[in-house]
Amino acid sequence: MNMFHQVGKVWARRQVAGLAQRRGYGVGARRCPSCGSRLSTALPVCPGCRYVWGLEESITHHELLGLPYGPNPFVVDRGELKRRFLEAQRLCHPDGWATRSGRDKDAAAAVSNAVNRAYQTLLSPMERIGYVLGRNGNEVGEGEQVEDMGLIMEVMEAREAIEQSEGEVLVELREANDGEYYDLSCVKGALGEIEAAVGVEDWTGAKRWAVRLKYLLAIGDALEQRAGNAEW
Ligand SMILES: [Zn+2]
Repeated sequence: MNMFHQVGKVWARRQVAGLAQRRGYGVGARRCPSCGSRLSTALPVCPGCRYVWGLEESITHHELLGLPYGPNPFVVDRGELKRRFLEAQRLCHPDGWATRSGRDKDAAAAVSNAVNRAYQTLLSPMERIGYVLGRNGNEVGEGEQVEDMGLIMEVMEAREAIEQSEGEVLVELREANDGEYYDLSCVKGALGEIEAAVGVEDWTGAKRWAVRLKYLLAIGDALEQRAGNAEW
């Protein structure tokens, strides 16, 4: 074997290792900087020697919880998300670091906060799409101007119908909410459109549907509130 073969092999190994590291996951991708043991999560916490260090600023919410960011960061398996969240909190929850030094406590608390934030963001479809859009320079602002007149009319009509309904009609509206008109199929439809738009990196389309989703979720809330206030 000649020199070039050796160099080539080392180079290839480094490329593979670098790629795994940048992705933040993969078998043997990361090792504890203190004891060198292999880490099974993307958290800066070693369960072996109980070493905790700082988070990489560039790490995504997905990567922090060991979930793939690509090919579509809007697609998140809820069961897997919950499982990863609990697994992560077992490693960094402040209760587990209460007897440690101030430096360790602070570092673990910072990781635990980041894990909570990542979980809450990925759990809610509205927050999740806001996060993905933000990462691509398309923040959905609080006072987002709605230019879609069709959507404005639709929302106004839905709100009026909710305000005026009571008794049987409200029961029917809530049932429809679970199936066809107000909530589920509309929300589901918007979620499908967002997923498709993110899949092809159509950020304008994803943002348009995110604004629609926000209104659809508000209609669902208004229905629940009306039903909660109704006296029967
Ligand atoms: Zn260690």
